[in-house]
Amino acid sequence: MHAILQGIQPTIKGWTAFRRDLHQHPELGFEEHRTSRLVADKLREFGYSVHQGLAKTGVVATLKAGDGKKVLGLRADIDALPMVENSGKSWASQTDGKFHGCGHDGHTTILLCAAEYLARHRNFNGTLHLIFQPAEELLYGGRVMLEDGLLEKFPCDALFGLHNMPGMPVGTFHFRKQAMMASCDTVHITVFGTGGHGAIPEKTVDATLVACQIAVALQTIVSRNVTPFAQAVITVGSIQSGEAPNIINEKAVMKLSVRSLDPQVRQLLLKRIDEVARLQAESFNAVAKVEHINGCPVLINDDAQTEFAISVARELVDESQICTDAPALMGSEDFAFMLEANPNGAYLMVGNGPGPMVHNPGYDFNDEIILPAAAYWCLLTERYLQ
Ligand SMILES: [Zn+2]
Ligand SMILES: [Zn+2]
Repeated sequence: MHAILQGIQPTIKGWTAFRRDLHQHPELGFEEHRTSRLVADKLREFGYSVHQGLAKTGVVATLKAGDGKKVLGLRADIDALPMVENSGKSWASQTDGKFHGCGHDGHTTILLCAAEYLARHRNFNGTLHLIFQPAEELLYGGRVMLEDGLLEKFPCDALFGLHNMPGMPVGTFHFRKQAMMASCDTVHITVFGTGGHGAIPEKTVDATLVACQIAVALQTIVSRNVTPFAQAVITVGSIQSGEAPNIINEKAVMKLSVRSLDPQVRQLLLKRIDEVARLQAESFNAVAKVEHINGCPVLINDDAQTEFAISVARELVDESQICTDAPALMGSEDFAFMLEANPNGAYLMVGNGPGPMVHNPGYDFNDEIILPAAAYWCLLTERYLQ
């Protein structure tokens, strides 16, 4: 067993209790006041210099050792989801409708556990910034931290982040070079027509029917405009229009989720959605207004930093516990904003074992991965800040 694993082992019981306490008290994006306070208190207790208030509830903690000039940033997300838990665990959420259904309680605990070990041993040479980010599930907490000056106040030479993944064996490490998580854009299309009586269509422009035509036409973008070698999805998740059977509606609102694994394909999708919606509407004498509500970039891992991250895993666990070519996912992750601002970094997955997928009401973070994942952050810090 690696010396770091041995060094952390005696603290795991306490960190498991800490994780379960976070799980019982989930908080949604930008409302993580209790979580943020607990995190900041722990870090101060360990001897970090702690900065609170970036992106409202974000926390950045800094520890220096030696006179090394290199600076490393490690990031964890801290928020929960607006959903009802039915995991049946004794430490289940105590707040109805809020649930750590993605394991960010675990990511927070992993980074704190590593923080404690690193402060106790200080076996590195340089500056370490630990970034606790709010509102990942809104897919813009990372962006707001950057807008609040994260990388100006705390410049980092390299940045790393991780996520647990159900279905992958407990404590296995999964890496991928280049694109790993898809971009995610929310687009709203509002169709304006002319309302009227359901029996007199010739006097109207039916916004509901135009929205339906747009929804069908949008499905030609991935099939006819995007190369078959690229991955892309356009989902029309909502069309809202009208209440009564005998009224032709003057307005319809469509809500889209748009994903891809290539920044250029992402731009193509957004451009074509705008063109198709506006021109389809025009062909029916209606008007479509297209609004880009929110967007998160493709998460792209740096090749050299991924190699480095793999080498750290090889030192910690057996080769059979490591996957160096994990499949890309069409889900999204707003750590992508940080890697977009500083591309020198990587994101990895740690197996959560069998059980329900993240965002499923039955999901729970597996406390068995606190030890290997925290040891991984410690060794990565010691190797990056040699
Ligand atoms: Zn999630
Ligand atoms: Zn998550």
